[in-house]
Amino acid sequence: MPTGWSLDVTQRDVRVFNNFTDPEANDNQTPDANFPGRFGAEMAIWKASVEWGSELHGDGQGDPGQVGGLGSGGANFDATFQGSALAAGQVGDNTHSELTGCAGGVLAFTQSFVDGTGWRTFYYQCWIWVDGPEQNWTPKTGYYDLQGIATHEYGHSLGLGHSADPLATMFPTPPSNGRTWRSLNSDDVAGIQAIYGVKDPSKPVISGASVNGTTLTLGGSRFASVGNEIWFTQSGGGGNGTPVKSLMVESSVGGTLLDVQIPIDAGSGDVLVYTTLGDGEALSNAWPFDDQPVGCPAPLNYCDAIPNSAGTPSVMGSIGSQSIAANNTILYSSGSPANSFGIFFYSPTSGHLPVGDGLICLGGPFFRLSAVQADTTGRALLPLDLTMPPKPGGQITSGSVWHFQWWYRDVPGGPSGYNFSDALRLPFCD
Ligand SMILES: [Zn+2]
Repeated sequence: MPTGWSLDVTQRDVRVFNNFTDPEANDNQTPDANFPGRFGAEMAIWKASVEWGSELHGDGQGDPGQVGGLGSGGANFDATFQGSALAAGQVGDNTHSELTGCAGGVLAFTQSFVDGTGWRTFYYQCWIWVDGPEQNWTPKTGYYDLQGIATHEYGHSLGLGHSADPLATMFPTPPSNGRTWRSLNSDDVAGIQAIYGVKDPSKPVISGASVNGTTLTLGGSRFASVGNEIWFTQSGGGGNGTPVKSLMVESSVGGTLLDVQIPIDAGSGDVLVYTTLGDGEALSNAWPFDDQPVGCPAPLNYCDAIPNSAGTPSVMGSIGSQSIAANNTILYSSGSPANSFGIFFYSPTSGHLPVGDGLICLGGPFFRLSAVQADTTGRALLPLDLTMPPKPGGQITSGSVWHFQWWYRDVPGGPSGYNFSDALRLPFCD
């Protein structure tokens, strides 16, 4: 049930003052690619806030017990995780921390300004707070699931009151240890959508991120052509919750690709794109950002694929590594009509040009690979032989970045009889 305010877009930050005294609150020290650089109570509270987000956070699998994945809000609302606070601070500092003592049966509470200018959450020390990645820990008297209770408290922060639905995360008292509160139910989703509106069709979406040296490349859709703000998590601790921002960033490829220099004071956490022409509907979902990625930069899908006669867009992917030495990269596309014939091709540059019944998302020069046929499920595969460039200039070397796409015949699909997949950006390494 909405309480009557909404958090201003400048108040979407979440920080943790990690003064939790129970060892159980910080015993999760397993790295998680969806929550880079954070552990224990910080990771648990980060997970709690992203469950309210508009899209799956990364691949959504940061908490394997979550049916449907983490990121269930579907509203014009996304939080920006801002890491460690050095103190609990004041109401409006948007922090979570532990508070000495007890107050009867109260587990935790959130203080909010009723004009949407911020909040602060406390967890009473007299309970045992468990950050548990454990999905099935046996409930014990006095032990509570920090992530589950934090999901409830963050619901209050963003303007929700209590629900009468006993299955809702916003029900006043937790079932057992609060573990099931990690997942929003339909009443919670209806609540956040009532306050912030159902996710707007114009809301920008990040669907992939790849770090290469000091450049971050984001793939997605509906980025502004100019004037984007890129919001990063501050490195280290402290700050005031305001994201580290890169301003006036241009996008390319029809608002689907965006390159930004990583600010020096940005750290592992989340990245968001704010197109500045509005409120929550102008702020993208939060995507994991790792400033110390191990191995080759991640593959990145970008550009739009136009649906074909099978009613689906064709989507690129890759299997294996991008290691030149391993030479085991396999290109694939899925979603094409069954048994369609096509050709994978590649280019050092990206582009955005309507051709045939689709779009060419590469900028040339173009190098074409062998013709292949999709299988009965519409999937086409091609192992890349990195030792055999199709012609001079197409040699794939360590440190180079290439863009791949699939052209395919689809006579019933449109006037031109051929179409294209989206595009895949692949950085190659030793
Ligand atoms: Zn409550």
